[in-house]
Amino acid sequence: DDDDLLPEEKLRYETRLAEALETEENRILTIQETRKLLPVYQYKDELLKEIKKHQVLIIMGETGSGKTTQLPQYLVDDGYTKQGEFQIAITQPRRVAATSVAARVADEMNVVLGKEVGYQIRFEDKTTPNKTILKYMTDGMLLREFLADSNLSKYSCIMIDEAHERTLATDILIGLLKEILPKRPNLKLLISSATMNAKKFSEFFNDCPIFNVPGRRYPVDIHYTLQPEANYIHAAITTIFQIHTTQALPGDILVFLTGQEEIERTKSKLEEIMFRLGSRTREMLITPIYANLPQEQQSKIFQPTPENCRKVVLATNIAETSLTIDGIKYVIDPGFVKENSYVPSTGMTQLLTVPCSRASVDQRAGRAGRVGPGKCFRIFTKWSYSHELELMPKPEITRTNLSNTVLLLLSLGVTDLLKFPLMDKPGIPTLRKSLESLYILGALNSKGAITNLGKMMCEFPCEPEFAKVLHTAATHEQCQGVLEECLTIISMLHETSSLFIGQKKEAAASVTSEVESDHMLYLEIFNQWRNSKFSRSWCQDHKVQFKTMSRIKNIRNQLFRCSEKLGLVEKNDRARGKVSNSTVYLNGRITRCFISGFPMNVVQLGPTGYHTMGKSSGGLNVNVHPSSILFANYKEKAQRPSKYVLYQQLTLTSKEFIRDCLVIPKEKWLPEMVPQVFKGLLGEKTNRGRE
Ligand code: ADP
Ligand code: MG
Repeated sequence: DDDDLLPEEKLRYETRLAEALETEENRILTIQETRKLLPVYQYKDELLKEIKKHQVLIIMGETGSGKTTQLPQYLVDDGYTKQGEFQIAITQPRRVAATSVAARVADEMNVVLGKEVGYQIRFEDKTTPNKTILKYMTDGMLLREFLADSNLSKYSCIMIDEAHERTLATDILIGLLKEILPKRPNLKLLISSATMNAKKFSEFFNDCPIFNVPGRRYPVDIHYTLQPEANYIHAAITTIFQIHTTQALPGDILVFLTGQEEIERTKSKLEEIMFRLGSRTREMLITPIYANLPQEQQSKIFQPTPENCRKVVLATNIAETSLTIDGIKYVIDPGFVKENSYVPSTGMTQLLTVPCSRASVDQRAGRAGRVGPGKCFRIFTKWSYSHELELMPKPEITRTNLSNTVLLLLSLGVTDLLKFPLMDKPGIPTLRKSLESLYILGALNSKGAITNLGKMMCEFPCEPEFAKVLHTAATHEQCQGVLEECLTIISMLHETSSLFIGQKKEAAASVTSEVESDHMLYLEIFNQWRNSKFSRSWCQDHKVQFKTMSRIKNIRNQLFRCSEKLGLVEKNDRARGKVSNSTVYLNGRITRCFISGFPMNVVQLGPTGYHTMGKSSGGLNVNVHPSSILFANYKEKAQRPSKYVLYQQLTLTSKEFIRDCLVIPKEKWLPEMVPQVFKGLLGEKTNRGRE
């Protein structure tokens, strides 16, 4: 309260307040000025006229021209939300883009984020019912809304942003939207895309018009390496320092890397070199940006670069089109991207580092020419650009597991998947494999119709495989009673990439000395944290990120509430009283639950290490990732490797690695839990009952 202040303090306070208000006013003024400078501003009236005239409009424009941040605000100005009666949804392929753009737009509209302007991503809903009019969300979240209201009646406009990315969710959304358009004549659909693919979208929507927003673009000089570089990180770092020491300021650098690990590794190297150079060089502000970067750190990339300093942004391809960082003059591009790749014959999804398409590297280069003429250093050869790179990226639908999508479509009543409108059709083997794995999970019956279990799986905001684990934990007679434990492990598995402050090994050692599997380590971490009453200091003591743990707790609450709604909690609790509380006993039950959800992720120990268990494929050799507890147990503590292991993630970099591994101590659990898969694979052996 003001009255408690001494007079001079009060004066000081008032002066400060006035100053703050003035800078705040200036800031808002500048924001409004900046808005008018964006290329899209000149086309505001024309755009709104076209939107009035047509139900579907493709909007094509250079990145950074203002499509994502401005268009939705224009729609509000034009009355599409009718004083809060309707909402406008804007979808983004990436979570980081949805949250960061929403924050920016809230700022521009001078409202609190989460009120008039909000966002919704999986496990996090920052919107207010009856208040939010602009909702930025991931494409996957809008897809789920069809389950609750298949006409999406609360929306007056839907903007499918970054459509050129052609994520699976975007492609399915576009198909579903195409079907509801005749039923919702007042619904406006905007498809916005960078300067690729626009024509294909227009053809899909019966040759609807394309509105082109010309962007500002300065020339970008492109440089190639003369020979292929074996180590592109090394080459990128060298290039960064060449630019930093020879080129004048201002002029920030954007480097495209493939993922969190690579970015963090590069960041440490840069910091180390800067430290060694000391005062001999100008300052450098190193800012990473990737999907799992904690939100509090994301906004750092947008902060203006201080004077006499150079900003170096280390980004995944999120900075290719979804986010625009002002002030970039140099782009360094090794030309790689991490992509899902699905092999229907084995049913496995791998995360592969692959060369980008030409369209992508051209987009990336363009990022250097927004403020003035720029330079792009490609860490690959000119020959490679013209002879090796694909023209366009492959749409996700052609290279991913479709089980979730097929299940969702079936529950929406789309039974003939081949007739569903899609821009690119998935492969028949992939579709067949999805149906087969859904059948194994019990989501479909032998006629291919969705079962009650399948419908239940759709209700969960997580993969159907996880939902199956939870269902088994609550209902299977040899597993019942471990729902709470499975909820914890599954929630932890969603956030493992930003869980530890330093090395996972050190954190693990400080939590428990005896643990067989990563799953059980995660369970132990959460339980100990819960016993500490969710304290911050427990996290600090054990080198675990408090913010991540808080997110995990939130995810767990949501999954718990969902289990409760579906009656699983009650079934589980009734059984819990009857089961033993010994750790070995509970771990066995938990392990069985995961087998039931992930039978395809079980690998077997052979003479050359672990290999996958497909009938036809003969097995792909995989290695336990060094970050897994199993790795330490086998390599360092020389424990005997378990014959069977279940993994949660398979990645391919220099080798095939499996991460987040669960030991399966008894072979007979496999055919007991999933006879359809393992009776055949393990053959006679198990019938004789070796265990
Ligand atoms: P487009 O969608 O056409 O690529 P955007 O609407 O994303 O363009 O960006 C328009 C402008 O808004 C860009 O100059 C960008 O730098 C700015 N901008 C976007 N998000 C933020 C943010 N979080 N902070 C500051 N500026 C931002
Ligand atoms: Mg955009």
